[in-house]
Amino acid sequence: MSKKMLKFVSIDKQMPVKRDADSRREDFNEIYEEFQTEKAREQASRCSQCGIPFCQVHCPVQNNIPDWLNLTANGRLDEAYELSQSTNNLPEICGRICPQDRLCEGSCVIEKGFNSVTIGAVEKYITDTAWEKGWVKPNAPRIELDQSVAVIGAGPGGIAAADQLRKKGYQVHVYDRYDRVGGLLVYGIPGFKLEKDVVERRAKLLADGGVTFHLNVNIGEDITFADIREKHDAVVIATGVYKARDISMPGSGLKGIVPALDYLTASNRKGLGDTVPDFENGILNADGKNVVVIGGGDTAMDCVRTAIRQGAKSVKCLYRRDRKNMPGSLRETTNAEEEGVDFVWLSAPKAFLGDDTVTAVKAIEMHLGIADSTGRQVPVEIDGSEFDIPCDLAIKALGFDPEDIPALFNEPGLEVSRWGTIDADPITKMTSLDGVFAIGDIVRGASLVVWAIRDGRDAAASMDLYLKNTAREKLAS
Ligand code: FAD
Ligand code: SF4
Ligand code: SF4
Repeated sequence: MSKKMLKFVSIDKQMPVKRDADSRREDFNEIYEEFQTEKAREQASRCSQCGIPFCQVHCPVQNNIPDWLNLTANGRLDEAYELSQSTNNLPEICGRICPQDRLCEGSCVIEKGFNSVTIGAVEKYITDTAWEKGWVKPNAPRIELDQSVAVIGAGPGGIAAADQLRKKGYQVHVYDRYDRVGGLLVYGIPGFKLEKDVVERRAKLLADGGVTFHLNVNIGEDITFADIREKHDAVVIATGVYKARDISMPGSGLKGIVPALDYLTASNRKGLGDTVPDFENGILNADGKNVVVIGGGDTAMDCVRTAIRQGAKSVKCLYRRDRKNMPGSLRETTNAEEEGVDFVWLSAPKAFLGDDTVTAVKAIEMHLGIADSTGRQVPVEIDGSEFDIPCDLAIKALGFDPEDIPALFNEPGLEVSRWGTIDADPITKMTSLDGVFAIGDIVRGASLVVWAIRDGRDAAASMDLYLKNTAREKLAS
């Protein structure tokens, strides 16, 4: 092992410099600065080069983390990049937005007592450096194949599948109903977690490597699913989940109550320079308002922090469990607290109050009761503990369900689970329809970028086999 490694005993864990909360509140730029080269090398050298690296086991794309940390510590960044990009199509994006505390870093064996190796920030540093140095090149397949594939959805799952298939020489056509490539990377996740030019340069790279994007094309409306199947030799569905979960309670129809994704999309579009009427007229803008966000997941965290940046008068987050039991990343919650978000833990909404427009959320205090079958303590209302939180904007961030894809695609043969997610073979990703594969959130339910990438890679590998077999069969017949 290189003498440069195993430094966790003498070097403390450090993240890249985090901008102070006052300056963060002023803009939508990312909150972490880039690692300086020396710092990245130093942090990488903390790795103890485990024989069985649990960081890698718990990384959904099974990144070869110990090896690229070793190469980084030894200043061999070009090789570190080659290795890192061989298992991950969007390493600089995962380095920014994976919940590392729950994945690679949370599984690092030196986590206890010494703090884990800073894996995500090093991954981002390696790939950002590769972009800067011009090492990131468009795909140049060795052979061009006649067979074509359709990818429906240009989110991270679709991007990963398209990239992998194009590398093999297939003619890849990506269809998306939006006007930009990236799915939730562009319109869901705010710029302070992921600046948009990071996604744009990936989209351009794919196009430069021969992937054809058909934007503003809604499959099921503008082109039928049957036409897509007819036109292409195989199809992968990567449409994500977009149906916002709702709460039905008194006052739900008042003005000033909005779904989280509408709110975040408006903010992201504004940042990209688009004209957004509902932002200009104030419906989807928190400026000068008292805001209550309902929910405790990552989407809720993105809403509260967006509201702070838009100049809200006050921002409160209402969540029915406590800090320890919230589904969102603790790192993002800490960031939100630093930026001035006020968390109202153990509280659930009961009603929206107001005549025409919302003026308050009526809430009730909760306590955590006995655990359910999943092991999570169930929140229980405390009788007589109702209280009101005044607000002019209430944002509902309660999660997402899949749309009815078989109906939208007019394809009843496409089997779905009882939750409405598409049933796909866990290994091959093939659905109930021959030559149709499905990946990402539309299969898993709302999940993570890195899982969508993993699915995209797995689907591409089995599509390759499927396409080779169909080509062989054609030749034989
Ligand atoms: P998506 O990214 O949703 O992309 C699906 C694409 O399909 C979209 O572009 C859509 O326009 C297109 N599409 C849908 N239907 C059609 C159709 N009929 N025709 C044509 N195109 C269609 N994950 C993390 O790992 N870290 C985070 O910090 C994080 N933050 C998040 C914050 C928010 C606000 C949200 C909502 C999610 C967040 N996630 C995060 C989750 C992550 O964004 C998703 O798990 C991931 O984007 C799923 O990828 P996907 O490719 O399956 O779908
Ligand atoms: Fe960690 Fe995500 Fe990178 Fe895997 S892809 S090493 S989980 S940051
Ligand atoms: Fe290095 Fe931690 Fe991974 Fe072990 S678990 S190889 S120490 S990063």
